[in-house]
Amino acid sequence: MTLVFATHNSNKLKEIQALMPEHIQLKSLTDIDCHEDIIEDAPTIEGNALIKARYVKEKYGFDCFADDTGLEVEVLNGAPGVYSARYAGEQKNAEDNTQKLLTELKDKTNRSAQFKTVIALILDGKEQLFEGVCKGVITEEKTGNKGFGYDPVFKPEGFTTTFAEMSLSEKNKIGHRGKATQKLLDYLKK
Ligand code: IMP
Repeated sequence: MTLVFATHNSNKLKEIQALMPEHIQLKSLTDIDCHEDIIEDAPTIEGNALIKARYVKEKYGFDCFADDTGLEVEVLNGAPGVYSARYAGEQKNAEDNTQKLLTELKDKTNRSAQFKTVIALILDGKEQLFEGVCKGVITEEKTGNKGFGYDPVFKPEGFTTTFAEMSLSEKNKIGHRGKATQKLLDYLKK
């Protein structure tokens, strides 16, 4: 069975393909010749994941899954949330986003936050959502040089280091994306 993962990132695709049940053959957006920008303009993380999965199903006819992630900060009422990628502007720069977040939280004592990943799956005419959450705090300054995005300022609950100081396999074990992916895999293996 062919299933499209709505990404152009061939590394992400390979990683998940290795964990898939044998009968499922993953294809990327590049593999199905989908090169257009899919407009992700929903007001929620769930909505954006669904937009991508529905686009592929409707335009290309393939069953598909798509993910979307956001960082939700408690004292900012859940911001940047669905706008995490462009928090500091349309240039979508991780350095600018992180700096803006640290500025917004300056002098704030409540530093609680969570990463949330939602995977939307369209399979056999049915839509399903799988969610992975990782709770933690926003640190006062950046630490570490691994990972990407907000990793240098996010310290997961129960840990003394930021995501940017962890190996990818450590992060995947406790991280939002890893948890959502595991739920998807458990479902596909049933
Ligand atoms: P996307 O939905 O995976 O494109 O994520 C949206 C934005 O959230 C990205 O541009 C990053 O800034 C941020 N983000 C997503 N996942 C992570 C993560 O695991 N660590 C740090 N930042 C992340």
